[in-house]
Amino acid sequence: MSEMIVYLEGAYVPLGEAKIPVMDHGLLYGDGIFEGIRAYGGRVFRLDDHMKRFQSAARAINLTLPLPLEEITEIVLETCRRNQIVDGYVRLVCTRGADGLGLYPKPQAHGPRLFCIAGQVALYPEEAYRRGLKVITSHLRRNKATIVDPQIKSLNYLNNILASIEAHRYGADEALMLNEDGIVTECTGDNVFLVKDHVVKTPPVWLGTLDGITRQSVIKICKELGVELKEEPFTHFNLLNADEAFLTGTAAEIIALTELDSQKIGNGVAGDMTMKLLKAFREYVRRPENGAKI
Ligand SMILES: *Cc1c(COP(=O)(O)O)cnc(C)c1O
Repeated sequence: MSEMIVYLEGAYVPLGEAKIPVMDHGLLYGDGIFEGIRAYGGRVFRLDDHMKRFQSAARAINLTLPLPLEEITEIVLETCRRNQIVDGYVRLVCTRGADGLGLYPKPQAHGPRLFCIAGQVALYPEEAYRRGLKVITSHLRRNKATIVDPQIKSLNYLNNILASIEAHRYGADEALMLNEDGIVTECTGDNVFLVKDHVVKTPPVWLGTLDGITRQSVIKICKELGVELKEEPFTHFNLLNADEAFLTGTAAEIIALTELDSQKIGNGVAGDMTMKLLKAFREYVRRPENGAKI
């Protein structure tokens, strides 16, 4: 395959030439934002929603995007075109830029740096969708909104990375993160849902979770299928005693959570509701109205 083409600050360049200066604040301090986006069948799934979230994150960290949102949208599509993406994964990033070691990004410093990568998705193997994931509860609490709001998809992901390392140290795939009150928030890069007595539940965003586009899609799909869904706080106890549980995210789609802290959830394999929602989701993502044509 020919070398990947990356959009970086106004130009489309081969991957090997796409380089960021060491003084960039995104690298020095995790000062920036990102989006993880999927393309299905030649369309970028819910691109407008991703762009709105990108804009909201920029506002939240006081970052002025270097281009209007419509132009950034076009860059995402053009990066897909240049890499002949039909089904794939897009990473859109904007760093603060700046150009110095000081914490304060001086107004006269280099402006924000925008880049976009489009490539293949790192997928879980299909059998993982039946078997489900092993999850441990991290001893690290999810960031509070008063410290770094989890609603910001920022480049500052140490909170999540440390929990993910913890999970893998214990032979698990993912880590469940609680808030300071011990209430379930989400996993390191995925939202969490449980199913109890045919009702689907997911924590409300204000508890300290990112408002996932996949999460929003599952909420819509439940409505369409006539499945009762509640955005409601729940605890580790509720998750452990659920009939089923699953995680949602752009890369993972909908994947069962079948083992929590070495205890099986439900009967220990992906449940009926999870598989039903996954099937519906895989149809939903291919509806023309849900994607922007590449
Ligand atoms: C991106 C992300 C999710 C999932 O959001 P999607 O838009 O569905 O991909 C969940 N939690 C965290 C912390 C994330 O960064």
